[in-house]
Amino acid sequence: MIFGGLQKFSLIDYPGKTCAILFTVGCNFRCPYCHNPELISLNNDTVVIEEKGILKFLENRIGKLDAVSITGGEPTLHKDLLSFMKKLKDMGFLIKLDSNGTRPLVLQKALDEKLVDYLAMDVKAPLDKYEKVTIKPINVEDIKKSIDIIKNSGIDHEFRTTVVRSLLSKDDILKIGETIAGAKRYYLQKFIATKTNDPKYLKETTYSDEELEELRTKIAKKVKICKVR
Ligand code: SF4
Repeated sequence: MIFGGLQKFSLIDYPGKTCAILFTVGCNFRCPYCHNPELISLNNDTVVIEEKGILKFLENRIGKLDAVSITGGEPTLHKDLLSFMKKLKDMGFLIKLDSNGTRPLVLQKALDEKLVDYLAMDVKAPLDKYEKVTIKPINVEDIKKSIDIIKNSGIDHEFRTTVVRSLLSKDDILKIGETIAGAKRYYLQKFIATKTNDPKYLKETTYSDEELEELRTKIAKKVKICKVR
């Protein structure tokens, strides 16, 4: 595993649990609004943290933290992800895994081996417009498979979409709502320009609170919990 960040404590990343957040390095997407460009690939801004150091920190948190959240980058690109998750499970932590959905087999394996307790997936756009956001070519079948695996996983889960006005129309967002219908949680994430992979996106905006609330109300009929954050 290559890690590029460690947040030692969070009360909000894993609903109802305290957790540490691990950030893996490497992503197969190039979302222009990505606020962690130093995690997309190793570069001069990446501060690499060794797995040994991460495990040592977590050993000291046994009994003090409920969970570990693994995010990226894209964690499923790492060949040793599942064996790393097994080490965390052996320490007694709950595990939340964030993914962009491009490796459905890894998600399925994590479920089969009971290595994951919470799955979170970014749904970037309606399936026919995905590459407008990811920039890199994608296999839309993999995205569909991941959505189905997560919806039918029987474990706690969420889908979320970062809402940039110029990338997603209101109809696009409602289409995403159709795709993830039946899910437990769906979050519409307001895009806030702080740091972006494409500097031009520092000028981009999201929808107004009223517009987002209107979208939320419509999508809330299709999922158990729908929130704007
Ligand atoms: S926002 Fe996009 S580019 Fe950035 S880590 Fe997530 S999937 Fe990768």
